[in-house]
Amino acid sequence: LGMPSVPTRLAERRKSRQIQVGTVAVGGDAPVSVQSMTTTRTSDIGATLQQIAELTASGCQIVRVACPTQDDADALATIARKSQIPVIADIHFQPKYVFAAIEAGCAAVRVNPGNIKQFDDKVKEIARAAKDHGTPIRIGVNAGSLDRRLLQKYGKATPEALAESALWEASLFEEHDFRDIKISVKHNDPVVMVEAYRQLAAQCDYPLHLGVTEAGPAFQGTIKSAVAFGALLSQGIGDTIRVSLSAPPVEEVKVGNQILESLNLKQRGLEIVSCPSCGRAQVDVYKLAEEVTAGLTGMEVPLRVAVMGCVVNGPGEAREADLGVASGNGKGQIFVKGEVIKTVPESKIVETLIEEAMKIAEQMEAE
Ligand code: SF4
Repeated sequence: LGMPSVPTRLAERRKSRQIQVGTVAVGGDAPVSVQSMTTTRTSDIGATLQQIAELTASGCQIVRVACPTQDDADALATIARKSQIPVIADIHFQPKYVFAAIEAGCAAVRVNPGNIKQFDDKVKEIARAAKDHGTPIRIGVNAGSLDRRLLQKYGKATPEALAESALWEASLFEEHDFRDIKISVKHNDPVVMVEAYRQLAAQCDYPLHLGVTEAGPAFQGTIKSAVAFGALLSQGIGDTIRVSLSAPPVEEVKVGNQILESLNLKQRGLEIVSCPSCGRAQVDVYKLAEEVTAGLTGMEVPLRVAVMGCVVNGPGEAREADLGVASGNGKGQIFVKGEVIKTVPESKIVETLIEEAMKIAEQMEAE
């Protein structure tokens, strides 16, 4: 008998068609990607590129920029060319900016054709321009901007209304034989949002961009997004994610990546397995866990580091990790790959863990 196996994934991915957002494939068997949106004025090219660089460094794979004015549209070409990651232009209503974004070489455009249908055959022209340039379109349905007809039909933004709205929007492009599409159906209530995506997933094979809209400040928004994305991703639904927080966008990216890592949809980077502490703790676990995290943040290799407050459960957990400490009696037993390699005084725990982590990282990189 071999070793008992533990599951690494909760579900098979839903089979979606794959689209290409610049260098990043979305859908199909492509890894679920993390995206965010800049908060700078897009027309301020320097500030926008600076923020994109920060987002890229924090693990953002696709970035969206708002394009509400002509000055913003004029900035798109430079931003798209200089950004390290694919840039999506976010456009409401004005078809002329959609053409500008496609011409500017944006990797994709977010636009709802329902908003521009009134401009007679503009949808057809957009479909043609997007097809000529190989530019995919994201249809982004939001509870707050649901089509009036559907709002009347359903009374409010129900999951059915959101899904139907998205499929109707998609059909406006399909009429012109354009299917290079991804879809989002966002709502601020995770329950409604999850159900809307489930219905949509069952009714089409477009890749889906997950988002809880207006999720709120960092703490609430993180939890809402983690719960909603977790519910969907655990069923294989979702091809790219955007966490919306009333906080700097780098925070959105960190949360997004952490959600994917939690579900094993992304290789885990540094993972601190620290105990919650209890009456048995013989060290300040919170402080120790924070210091270890701060000392090891930015390491490129996946490393699981256990920080345990006592020697009751500590050694067991620490043994499962690449590296760990179990504290007791003012000392820390340092474990590497399940073996106690040394015991150090409490004041030396953090620096010893960092030293050992560096050694392991070097070995991993050499392998
Ligand atoms: Fe309590 Fe020790 Fe478990 Fe931490 S490792 S929660 S201190 S029993």
